[in-house]
Amino acid sequence: MSKKMTNAQLFDRAQAAIPGGVNSPVRAFGSVGGTPRFLVKAKGPYVYDSEGIEYVDLIASWGPAILGHANRRAVKAVQKAAAKGLSFGASSPGETILAELIEQRVSPVDRVRLVSTGTEATMTAIRLARAATGRDLLVKFAGHYHGHSDGLLAAAGSGLATFALPGSAGVPAPIAAQTLVIPYNDPDALRAVFAEHGEKIAAVITEAAPANMGVVPPLPGFNAAMTAIAHEHGALIIFDEVLTGFRVGAAGFWGVEDKSKDSSGYRPDLFCFGKVIGGGLPVAAIGGRRDIMELLAPLGPVYQAGTLSGNPVAVAAGIATLQGLTPRVYKKLDRTARTIADAASAALSQVSVPHRIQWAGNLFSIVFGEEAAISGLHDYAAVQRQESWRYPPFFHAMLNAGVSLPPSLFEAWFVTAAHDQRAIDRILTALPKAAKAADT
Ligand code: PLP
Repeated sequence: MSKKMTNAQLFDRAQAAIPGGVNSPVRAFGSVGGTPRFLVKAKGPYVYDSEGIEYVDLIASWGPAILGHANRRAVKAVQKAAAKGLSFGASSPGETILAELIEQRVSPVDRVRLVSTGTEATMTAIRLARAATGRDLLVKFAGHYHGHSDGLLAAAGSGLATFALPGSAGVPAPIAAQTLVIPYNDPDALRAVFAEHGEKIAAVITEAAPANMGVVPPLPGFNAAMTAIAHEHGALIIFDEVLTGFRVGAAGFWGVEDKSKDSSGYRPDLFCFGKVIGGGLPVAAIGGRRDIMELLAPLGPVYQAGTLSGNPVAVAAGIATLQGLTPRVYKKLDRTARTIADAASAALSQVSVPHRIQWAGNLFSIVFGEEAAISGLHDYAAVQRQESWRYPPFFHAMLNAGVSLPPSLFEAWFVTAAHDQRAIDRILTALPKAAKAADT
């Protein structure tokens, strides 16, 4: 059907069959307007829509396509695995290999349990933390995204109320009230919440480097201070690296900070991974300290299961992807991200649009406005104050020039190892006109 239909026709048809025409809300272009592109093919740094138009892709499936789309090695591994059976519902050797690859790269991780989505990973990590501590409350930072389970769709209450309110219709208030939402990058807010509720807090969950409100990196030393404060009070740290894990470096953002001079050698208790470890197929994981991880069934009392957990085809894609991520690839990702971000910044400066590029390893996004330009934006309230109206025209100018950016200002830009000079040149050529469009 897709060959003969335009994007608009496909969207109309989808809306008659699927709520909003999409299976994940950001795909609907709600915050930038216009018609979503229906993709029919992807190869290397490019995606192709139903009308045959080629775009340089800076979404990379929201992270998993780190080696480039339809990477030859990953596709071959998938084909080989698929030919041997799509799903066993029993253990298979690849699951252990993938778990070992993760444990070898991230040293605080002694044991790994594979699941299918990042949402499941964070949900199970929280259950483990509650079981390990015998406490119920969870601390979360405003603007961090950890998937769509009830307790994590929690919105900060107003004023001094830290007990969260439901962040979505359908979330029961008593469940949201088990989550305490506080501002990010603010050690005093964390100390205050522990001073008041310390004995009841099971864990702090944090994006290792937030990239779901645009990129808002932790201030130097914040992750270490957070870990120290939580541990002082007997609470655990759940480090959500679903987005950053194996993308910003072989040991994720934890590894980047562990090597930096600001590090005090902090060690989160539990990690969540996803995206890259499935290479585009559904794999995610919880990893961490052996004593906590072995609370999981069948060894311990914490229940967790999945019909398709550790699926052999998905695991094959994940193994091929992790094995393809050599130090040279990470260097290339860093270089490519720097080239694109520098050019975007230069184009915006040329037309005097106030902005800043915010970074977490090779992940970056643009924040707009004087406040952003002067001091950077460090928490959710600041991100919401920015000049967000500049993004939709910028986005559409890029799209019209054949560059696919995330259809929301509050997402990171993702480069791949397949972005070659031709792809980068198209981005650089498109930027000046997009910058002018942002100068509204
Ligand atoms: N945690 C983080 C940091 C994420 O970015 C995401 C998804 O974007 C999730 C958790 C949820 O993962 P999934 O969409 O696989 O459920």
